[in-house]
Amino acid sequence: MMDNRDNALGLYVSIPFCRSKCTYCNFASGVYPASEHARYVDRLIQDLAAAGEWAIKTGVALPRKVDTVYLGGGTPSLLAPDLLARLFGAMRSQFDFDPDAEITVECAPGQLAGGTLAALVAAGVNRVSLGVQSFIDNEAHSSGRLHNRATVADDLRRLRAAGIANLNVDLIAGLAGQTFATWQESLEMLVDSGVPHASVYMLEVDQDSRLGREMLTGGARYHAGLVPTDDAIAQMYTQAIERLAKAGLAQYEISNFCRPGFASRHNLRYWQRRPYLGLGLDASSMLRASQDESALAESGYVLRSTTTDDLAAFLVGSQPAETGWLSPASQHEEAWFLGLRLNAGVEVAALEREFGRSTVAPALRVVTRLAETGLLTFAGGTVRLTAQGRLLSNDVFQEFLGLIPDADFVRTGTNS
Ligand code: SF4
Repeated sequence: MMDNRDNALGLYVSIPFCRSKCTYCNFASGVYPASEHARYVDRLIQDLAAAGEWAIKTGVALPRKVDTVYLGGGTPSLLAPDLLARLFGAMRSQFDFDPDAEITVECAPGQLAGGTLAALVAAGVNRVSLGVQSFIDNEAHSSGRLHNRATVADDLRRLRAAGIANLNVDLIAGLAGQTFATWQESLEMLVDSGVPHASVYMLEVDQDSRLGREMLTGGARYHAGLVPTDDAIAQMYTQAIERLAKAGLAQYEISNFCRPGFASRHNLRYWQRRPYLGLGLDASSMLRASQDESALAESGYVLRSTTTDDLAAFLVGSQPAETGWLSPASQHEEAWFLGLRLNAGVEVAALEREFGRSTVAPALRVVTRLAETGLLTFAGGTVRLTAQGRLLSNDVFQEFLGLIPDADFVRTGTNS
């Protein structure tokens, strides 16, 4: 179903290069020579040039107007100034950037050279996300980060001096060696930094990171034995919500906090199910069926696709993207677990207008059950996670899967 919000697109560009690999990292990123950076940007530029043709062939609507751009990774600030200029030039030649577009780039503290900062400003970048993770130097170092708190302060000063005041700082609750006292100190440093946006993540443990593997299988190299318990991490997360709220950084999503007017417009797209095109390694897209694909468009299908996470395959262009059409029933499930991430919650009447009352009815039975257990509230027509529900959000979201028998139906395929 098309609405006015869908007339503009968000662009996500993955830059999978890092100077070192963090112990907790489970992203498709790595340390590669600078020569690979240039090859990679060349491939991105090819994909940008082919995006219109790909959209026609695939049957999706690709708005030309772009109002959010996000360079994530990886560490996009490692790209040389000329590569950044070429990449932004290619994006602007294929799409019409809204004059008010939010253009975010992720940077690692201490990895933002003067020439790179100048190139970002020249390209129109107006928001920077700094991957600080901890202001405690030994926690940062034992996680594989290369900065200290002085580096962070210096980068924030340089960014502001360059005119970029819309700044985010990422923190992770649960790093090896973290205690309630050091976590409090990191929160105080974040507040004192005056940034208008913060992201706070709870450490994820899985076998895709070196720290996670060590926690699952044993060992001491990455200090797995010093990782706080799940209960302590949950308490740290709650501590963050309270401290940041007191400082005027209100929680608006499970992991995100901001001063009024500073919510990440790009990330809101994901939770509000608005269209975005992902380019580069392991990048996802969500696009609506074009009117030329009238059967799919009238039935309200959307395409989700994800590119390969194999850099070698991406560079030679041999790996097709995985694609699948999502039925409205599948989107209805997504609408619950994406919408509930937001503190604003899910407005039931809006879902009923979009998907029909009979589709929404089984979800409301889940809502009633979870409200009785204290994980959700349902008031004034809006369903929201409670504080406890936020801590157990994955369990809550699980309850909204498989509600409609045909919700799993997707027409899958590949597109080169
Ligand atoms: S900087 Fe980010 S992407 Fe790179 S290794 Fe660290 S966590 Fe992973």
